[in-house]
Amino acid sequence: MNLLHELDMPVQFLKGVGEAKAKRFECLGIKTIYDLLTYYPRDYQDRSKVKPIFSLQDGQRETFSGMVLGHTNAAFHRKGIKLTKTCVSDGTGYVYILFFGKSNMDKILPPRNKVFVTGRIRRYRGEIQVTDFEYEVIDEKERDLLHTNRIVPIYPLNESVPASIGQRMIRQAVNQAIENFPDIKDMLPTEILLRQQLSDYPTALKNIHLPESHEEYKKARKRLVFDEFFLLQLAFGISQKKIATKEKGIRYFVHGKMVDAFIDSLPFTLTKAQKRVINEIMSDMSQPVPMNRLVHGDVGSGKTVVATCAALIACENGYQTAFMSPTEILAEQHFMTLEHLLAPLKIRLGLLTSSTKKRQRDSLLAMVNEGEINILIGTHSLIQDAVAFKQLGLCIIDEQHRFGVVQRAALKEKARDKNNQPVTPDILVMTATPIPRTLALTLYGDLETSVIDELPPNRQPVITRCRSEQSMDKIFSFIRQEVLDGRQAYIVYPLIEESEEINLKAAAVMFEELKNVFPEFQLGLLHGQMKVQEKDETMTAFYNHQINILVSTTVIEVGIDVSNATIMLIEHAERFGLAQLHQLRGRVGRGAHKSYCILMADKKIADLVNSNTPINLIDDPTTTVFKGTKRLKTMCETNDGFRIAEVDLEIRGPGEFFGTRQHGMPELRIANIVYDVQVLEIARKEAFALIKNDPFLTDIDHQAIKQTFFYEFRDRLELGRVG
Ligand code: ADP
Ligand code: MG
Repeated sequence: MNLLHELDMPVQFLKGVGEAKAKRFECLGIKTIYDLLTYYPRDYQDRSKVKPIFSLQDGQRETFSGMVLGHTNAAFHRKGIKLTKTCVSDGTGYVYILFFGKSNMDKILPPRNKVFVTGRIRRYRGEIQVTDFEYEVIDEKERDLLHTNRIVPIYPLNESVPASIGQRMIRQAVNQAIENFPDIKDMLPTEILLRQQLSDYPTALKNIHLPESHEEYKKARKRLVFDEFFLLQLAFGISQKKIATKEKGIRYFVHGKMVDAFIDSLPFTLTKAQKRVINEIMSDMSQPVPMNRLVHGDVGSGKTVVATCAALIACENGYQTAFMSPTEILAEQHFMTLEHLLAPLKIRLGLLTSSTKKRQRDSLLAMVNEGEINILIGTHSLIQDAVAFKQLGLCIIDEQHRFGVVQRAALKEKARDKNNQPVTPDILVMTATPIPRTLALTLYGDLETSVIDELPPNRQPVITRCRSEQSMDKIFSFIRQEVLDGRQAYIVYPLIEESEEINLKAAAVMFEELKNVFPEFQLGLLHGQMKVQEKDETMTAFYNHQINILVSTTVIEVGIDVSNATIMLIEHAERFGLAQLHQLRGRVGRGAHKSYCILMADKKIADLVNSNTPINLIDDPTTTVFKGTKRLKTMCETNDGFRIAEVDLEIRGPGEFFGTRQHGMPELRIANIVYDVQVLEIARKEAFALIKNDPFLTDIDHQAIKQTFFYEFRDRLELGRVG
């Protein structure tokens, strides 16, 4: 089979692109015509609406054209950077373009040349000025419609690209390519195009580069975003299918006696969402195909109960469960919770962390090996070589994104069937950090997902306010009142010890001060550097209501569950990330009492959060003030974890979302992971439907898809080996 993509020829093939230019294109990673046509513009300038200079509006981003009259070396700007003003006129007025730190202006903008400029207009002391602009000098001879008087594509070019590559050169080459290949084959069958109202491929390619209108651009973009997601989801679909056909899993008998007994023993009834997800898990586990399921649920949605049901099914079938948590505190808490929940059923639990003492550890491991422990809870200690199960059939991984792929695989390796032979276990991944749906589908597209999209009844949204130091007295008396009413409070600091460099309040120091503020109450201190036993004692005392106010660092961030706690006070809240703030806030509002989250911030930020000024007018989006304000404002506005995760993604971008890049985030060329969720979903639906009917892409109508698929993933191992 010929796998050569039809656009896979060197750019040199194009008229006007010789050897030298081809070399320059290579600096942009463009070797073939396909590379060129998929080098999408980063922006467009609407040069079809050129405004007369006299009508340019203050504060707006506008386009005008005119003649360069000359340059004045105006003055020195602050910090000694030279300021040059370039005067441009179109006969209706004068504009001054402000350049900082440039000296060869006569070369950059030669006088008497015609120039197009798009930029932010500022009317200042009687002058019309432009800052933050892009410009293009128009060669008088060249009057074609590629660069002017239309919507013009702007391609990504950064500082590392040689100056010899310009916008015009790319535009010309792209235009050539489009003219040369008017009938590129469309990989998508007509029925998909019709069903999803997508434009055809050649039209989409033309209009992404050289649209005649905004509508054309939008249609083109939708089609190309679809393609990008479609191919990615196809890859997931194929690898899922491969697992389904090749890997033999465990088929559990799900008669649910234990699960029923467990559910009956709970002091509450399950939410509809919990029941639905439990059913999805049961259905997975009853299939011979290994389960690979991700359960999303906002903080407090009750994932633990759901995971416990899965463990009980394994247990009933004679299999052990490994339950891996990211932190020691969380593992301990899960252990305590499960011990409590499972007390009526005779289930044996074990807890293994790095601080489990040797003697205890040895006997625990022996019991695990003998099959005497049904559920082993722990941290990444679970994946150590010494841990050997008798018959491990289910792996539950909490807060998946904190573990790498390697750790997931290492845990899977430990699975054994009843003859102690390796077997592919069922996997249940839980995440309390809500991942935006788009990100989940691009990251974990090979996992089935379940969403617990409902909180237990009687939960009231946590009332969230942003305050500064000035309100401290009021806040303390509020806390006092709540504690007198029988409630408990958390006070969280970013550090343990006071730091010399940054002037931050720290938990250990404030603990002493707070004892004087609240002499009548019991205070506890919790931080990561305490011994496990001390931490345990403090936590247990807080559970048992022997401590009224828990002063802490962020070690309490994940999972801790004391439903009587109603106040979460976070100091220096602007320093925390959104996911962390949401997790911290999730520690309250877990019972029937009204709960409060108080975000203490710098006065400037607190004032901005509480003002009605729209966020984008506040400051430059790259500044810490802007980011801090946006985060705290979002916290005050919503309790919805998915909404919060989306804002987080917007502020940080997908690469940073998890703090590391180890997660194999696919690089997207055109799709935007935050905004294109709808297209992603239709693309996923179409891709999975296609794989279902034609798993090896043998259908004659699917040959173009297969070709493109191989072409797109030619550099990525594994995925290409289909069929
Ligand atoms: P998370 O999803 O954050 O892990 P948990 O599983 O820790 O949530 O549950 C949060 C709290 O809600 C726990 O105290 C749990 O016992 C309780 N809970 C779970 N499901 C329900 C329910 N259906 N009704 C009432 N309370 C519930
Ligand atoms: Mg939990």
